Amino acid sequence: KHFADYELSEEIMRALNSLGYETPTEVQTEVIPVALEKKDLVVKSQTGSGKTAAYGIPLCELVDWNENKPQALILTPTRELALQVNEDITNIGRFKRIKATALYGKHPFHIQKAELKQRTHIVVGTPGRVLDHIERGSLSLQRIGYLVIDEADEMLNMGFIEQVQSIIGALPGSRTTMLFSATFPEDVANLSRQYMDNPAQIEI
Ligand code: AMP
Repeated sequence: KHFADYELSEEIMRALNSLGYETPTEVQTEVIPVALEKKDLVVKSQTGSGKTAAYGIPLCELVDWNENKPQALILTPTRELALQVNEDITNIGRFKRIKATALYGKHPFHIQKAELKQRTHIVVGTPGRVLDHIERGSLSLQRIGYLVIDEADEMLNMGFIEQVQSIIGALPGSRTTMLFSATFPEDVANLSRQYMDNPAQIEI
């Protein structure tokens, strides 16, 4: 398998090349073609498998640069992961000039609010702060067509279920949802049953 097997734009291919990504990892091989078709996905995989790029590459490919409102929302359990994902997406989307914004707690709200006023294609954040921005009107969900729930098991372990449900409830109905988790306890399985449409199941 090679990245050239997928129909990726020249800007994304150039970014993968500059990142030194030569061949897709196993999770990328499974996820990229399905995500590019905008199908819902449930993925069992560990960190270190290349899962961030597995959803980051298709998201960067699919978003429309000309759209002013955010088009993809990625939820992470921690601020550290939000920042890491934000950096990875920024790198993958560099030559397409994709703008990602990270939203997380213990960081001034008004700075994030100002950042959201600039064009943002992809938002990545922790559930509490993302919900804050939704409730205070600084994050528009109108154009969100893609939702990624990353490290879903960690997210629920940390007690974020209600925030995650409120966020999903506020999103447009027609969207693609991708859920990534290392383990699948009952509450994670319930989340995918509740909010996903006949998802493809991938296990690495
Ligand atoms: P992750 O599982 O998303 O935390 O990724 C683990 C590490 O693998 C990160 O440092 C990525 O930059 C790197 N990585 C992801 N995809 C590839 C690839 N196709 N080739 C080489 N390295 C990669």
